Amino acid sequence: MMDLQHFSNARGIAEIINRSAARHLAPPPDLKPSEWAEMAVRIPEGNAVPGPYRLANAPYQREPMDMLVNPDCYRITLMWGAQVGKTLLALCVQGYCIEMLPRSQMMMQPSQADLQTWLETKFNPLVDANQQLRRLIAKPRGREGVNNQKMKSYPGGFLMFAWSGSPKTMRGRSAPVIVCDEVDGYEVTEEGHPVGLLWQRAATFGDQRFLVEISTPTVKGESYIEKAFEAGDQRRFYVACPHCGEHQALNWSNVTWAGKDEPGEEQQPETARYACQGCGALWDDGERIAAIRNAEQVGAGWKGAKPFRGHASYHLNELYSTFRRLKDIVQSYLDKIATDDLQTFTNVSLAETFEERGEQADPDSLMTRAEEWTAQVPAGGLVLTAGVDMQQDRLEVEIVAWGHGEESWSVDYLVLWGDPLQGDVWEELEEVLSSTWLHESGAQLPILAACVDTGGTGGNTQAAYEWLRGKTGRRIFGIKGVAGWGRPIVAAPSRKQSGKNARKVDLFLVGTDEAKLTVMRRLAVEKPGAGYCHVPNDRGADWYQQLTAEKLVTRYVKGFPVREWHQTRPRNEALDCRVYALAALKIANPSMRRAAERLMMPKSAEEELKRTKWKAKKPEPAPEPVPEEKPQEESPATVAETVRIKRSSALKRKRGGWVHNW
Ligand SMILES: [Zn+2]
Repeated sequence: MMDLQHFSNARGIAEIINRSAARHLAPPPDLKPSEWAEMAVRIPEGNAVPGPYRLANAPYQREPMDMLVNPDCYRITLMWGAQVGKTLLALCVQGYCIEMLPRSQMMMQPSQADLQTWLETKFNPLVDANQQLRRLIAKPRGREGVNNQKMKSYPGGFLMFAWSGSPKTMRGRSAPVIVCDEVDGYEVTEEGHPVGLLWQRAATFGDQRFLVEISTPTVKGESYIEKAFEAGDQRRFYVACPHCGEHQALNWSNVTWAGKDEPGEEQQPETARYACQGCGALWDDGERIAAIRNAEQVGAGWKGAKPFRGHASYHLNELYSTFRRLKDIVQSYLDKIATDDLQTFTNVSLAETFEERGEQADPDSLMTRAEEWTAQVPAGGLVLTAGVDMQQDRLEVEIVAWGHGEESWSVDYLVLWGDPLQGDVWEELEEVLSSTWLHESGAQLPILAACVDTGGTGGNTQAAYEWLRGKTGRRIFGIKGVAGWGRPIVAAPSRKQSGKNARKVDLFLVGTDEAKLTVMRRLAVEKPGAGYCHVPNDRGADWYQQLTAEKLVTRYVKGFPVREWHQTRPRNEALDCRVYALAALKIANPSMRRAAERLMMPKSAEEELKRTKWKAKKPEPAPEPVPEEKPQEESPATVAETVRIKRSSALKRKRGGWVHNW
């Protein structure tokens, strides 16, 4: 709304607006609460962003606010952290119910002192900064209406105040619109939970009832707001990665900085970045804030985990604040750690309940979504990698197909029995890794890259080195798993000598803690698309048990949290294989777009291209056919591989040769 102070005859204009506003009061107004708020509400001085209310600063406030006028919605729950404007959102709802949709309201705070603070620091300053609200609310000690510490009246209704510790303030009162702030701080009286009591009493208002519950959560199992959030449809605010486009809800575990999870090291919050869960790109504050502001324009934004049945519940943490820098959030984390108060950070910044919790995927729910594929590799799978785990008496191999957004298909799982100190089992592995798998397009897909675990006992490690020697060009890599948070899934290789005069082997270090977290998170992805793991319907229960055999546990050592993977079942080879197959993908880093183009190409054109490249390779490398292609795409290894496809598909492997454990 226009700022009336800019007009010389402000009083006259106010009267006109007053009358025209009055005419609009009877029918439901056209403006949604968010539209009204942007036109009418001025945020008082002393707030983070004073001045006209702008949703661009907090686009996630729009949808919950507008639920007030959604006839299908009767309840919203905001489990929100600090600095994302939950109090302001509630004030906008209350202001709309004063000016645009006049009806009576209740406002509840945990205690009388909380109510007093809210009135003095939130409600009164907002009213003072907004002429129209000031005009509508009765004057203190005025003849018409009430304006005191218990109630404010306005044409068409009143706003009543209550606090949870005093059943007296609630007794006999009811209103259709109820805002309950900081509900996790409420005292439950003998009569029941205060929110429930207010809601029951509002039953006479029927369809007009609307409940807003707001809080930062407290302790797991005791938190009212978390239970309310879970009772609703569980919406989270998705933003798109500026690099890969993957939609994701912002998660504290993806915030990274120099020194993170390294208690002895210097902590450098100023290096804080947000790591995309899809591509790992590190966003600075500008990119993070732009992603939040643009979320709804690119089709991201609020998405519920459950169907909407009248109760919309919203979770939002401080990472969504557009005026808090990541380094400040990290600093507050470090401060809380230093004062042994991680719970405050967890509750207030992350808007999560506090507990010692583990992260573990569920084998049964994975099994229920097993699929039958028409080809060995379904159409979405574009490249194959292999992960090989070494045991005393066998090698276990998973062949994984990867598509866009690292969506994956477990194409094959093989157990090759034999002592790694003897040669036979390695020959079998050689045969597996030279095989091809039939793609739905009719093409035969070779294995693009493989990672072989070398980390067993001394003798086996040497045997693995022996076998790996000279295979880097074929993208068969030796790896060694290393623990520690914040490590990349794969780090640059180091050279290891496998014998006195032998050539050295490139050994890649795999950050297993982070890699397992990625795998576990992806196993938990429920809808096909980026990150989703497809499983075939011919695996036994044992494979699922192994794949989910570890659980992330947070232990506290002198108040400092230490996250660790704990094995919950005796065998975990399937999980290790998946970690190594992921590492192989990360090392090879193929262009999925190119891989897709190659699979779509008609056979004759593909053959022609192969011949051309083969010829062009000598003496000069082939010119880049597509400018944005990564150089390694056309390395001699790829050309050699393309040639190898023909050979190995001619020598079609016999499946019976390997033990299918599942
Ligand atoms: Zn990304």
